[in-house]
Amino acid sequence: MRVLYKEFGAGLRWSMKSVYKEVADFSSTIEPENLINIMFNPYGRMVVWYWGEPTQCLTCGYDLTGNASGRCPECGTAA
Ligand SMILES: [Zn+2]
Repeated sequence: MRVLYKEFGAGLRWSMKSVYKEVADFSSTIEPENLINIMFNPYGRMVVWYWGEPTQCLTCGYDLTGNASGRCPECGTAA
């Protein structure tokens, strides 16, 4: 487990209502005890911080689902 985050509200067209809904939907997929914080970043986006297993390489975006080696096979970044 490690600290992960997901940003909401990126892109040209969004409303606070749709962002709140996305955040609520995403938060409901996280165990309550794994939820760390929900906050605005300096760019006006909502960010959900949580404990979890990374499903994508943070460097190249490679799908790490089911990868048990702890290392991205694409770029070698420690997952
Ligand atoms: Zn990678």
